[in-house]
Amino acid sequence: MRDWLSHRVRASPDGTALVRAATGESWTFAELDGLVEETAGRLAALGVEPGDHLGTVLGPRVEYVALIHAAMRLGVTLVPMGDSLTVPELRGQVVTADVTALVCDAETEAVAADVADAAAVPLVSVDAPATQGTVHLADVLPDSVTPASWSFDDVQLLLFTSGTTGDPKAVKLTTGNLLASAVASVFRLGFDPEDRWLVTLSLHHMGGIAPVLRMPLYGMTVVLREEFDAGDAADDVDRFDVTAVSLVPTMLRRMLDSRGTLGSSLRAVLLGGAPAPRELVERCRDYSVPVYPTYGMTETASQMATATPSEAFEHAGTVGRPLFWTDVTVVGGDGERLPPGETGEFVVDGPTVSPGYYGDPEATSDAFGERGLRTGDVGYVDDGGRLYVLNRVDDRIITGGENVDPGEVADVLRSHPDVRDAAVVGVPDEEWGERVSALVVPEGDELDRDALVEFARERLAGFKLPRVVAVADELPRTVSGTVRRGAVRELLAEWEDGSDGAD
Ligand code: ATP
Ligand code: MG
Repeated sequence: MRDWLSHRVRASPDGTALVRAATGESWTFAELDGLVEETAGRLAALGVEPGDHLGTVLGPRVEYVALIHAAMRLGVTLVPMGDSLTVPELRGQVVTADVTALVCDAETEAVAADVADAAAVPLVSVDAPATQGTVHLADVLPDSVTPASWSFDDVQLLLFTSGTTGDPKAVKLTTGNLLASAVASVFRLGFDPEDRWLVTLSLHHMGGIAPVLRMPLYGMTVVLREEFDAGDAADDVDRFDVTAVSLVPTMLRRMLDSRGTLGSSLRAVLLGGAPAPRELVERCRDYSVPVYPTYGMTETASQMATATPSEAFEHAGTVGRPLFWTDVTVVGGDGERLPPGETGEFVVDGPTVSPGYYGDPEATSDAFGERGLRTGDVGYVDDGGRLYVLNRVDDRIITGGENVDPGEVADVLRSHPDVRDAAVVGVPDEEWGERVSALVVPEGDELDRDALVEFARERLAGFKLPRVVAVADELPRTVSGTVRRGAVRELLAEWEDGSDGAD
């Protein structure tokens, strides 16, 4: 098949492809196709060829949307990278993914130029005016483009994981993975050309790039909000009759805080990337927000399970049933398959599962096996086949031979009125192997830490009680909203040094 936009243009050239939320400007599929043709021509004129790895350091913007489809038209593998990463971080990703050329814009140019220099790859900017060493796309004459054709097994994207458990890994995603994911998602949620999808997540994560890739498949409109602002995003829903949006929990909470509820045009709010706090799902029920708690990962090209609003309201904490074609099994410590109700690691298999990590055979063989991909996530399935994600394999704390679920302890701490947020980790301990330690964000100015431990003592067995309670202004999180547990451990170590271990 050729790039999906060229097929869509034949079907509905006058449908609206893209709206820029900040200004209301819009592009039909035919107009977007023109932008894509020009972008692809300019890249081709610069010598970008099928099979190249084109790295991007760009925030969400119209030119980026065009570039994503231009890469597909050219047969180029796209390597989206975070636009807030530092030079050493980006350089590491450029090396890991064998990036052959980099694209930036005026905003990211200074950082991207250092990276391009260090890695000796050419740099192209989508913005004028030109600076030395950077080629400006607008200055290159477009050649005619010969559209590349794609097979199911071709690697269309190298997408980095969020780096919650270690360095981000470059996940290979094939055309087949992305198509299967788009189709399975539509089987669950039913998207069509009437839909308008608000995109306000970064395009270098699956949640942001998925709707941009699917827009020509579904024939739907993408409403692009370049800078996330909770009030503006909530207003976009009304202004553009938005029907669908993907959000991480912190964003949804802020949108509800700023406007109370969300516009009634919405029919699907996909909520994922991190555990959805129960209180947030309850607020959605109270305000009739159609929330679809979703569990996904980069390695499965986004969603692997999604709960409907009624499932979410009736079965607190669930992320629903796996999508069509996707098989999720729960596996115990010896690799045995566990029955419903028992907690173990999720193993996922199906056509959306990536063939592996680029340039990392060791990590690939550790995670990808005969039975599928070991997700590294711990949870269980109920009798109705619904999934519940509890925490990550790496998070489990073993103290004095007892297993402690850090999520359970954090939930109890969070239920105290003086606590806004809490993270619980195991810290190495000579006597106990690990000791349970908590980093707490207080609700007001004062937090009585001893009283908090007493509060927990009434609700938790003794071995689960935090031995250390440290206080912080906020928890270190990835952009998807998952707690960076390594950073929590570092903060706890600093805290213990500072308070001479008296706690
Ligand atoms: P890395 O693989 O580099 O450690 P990461 O796993 O955070 O980073 P992503 O692929 O962006 O990178 O995130 C996928 C993970 O996010 C899942 O494996 C899971 O741990 C978590 N996650 C996603 N959705 C949910 C959800 N609804 N509930 C709980 N956890 C979720
Ligand atoms: Mg991961």
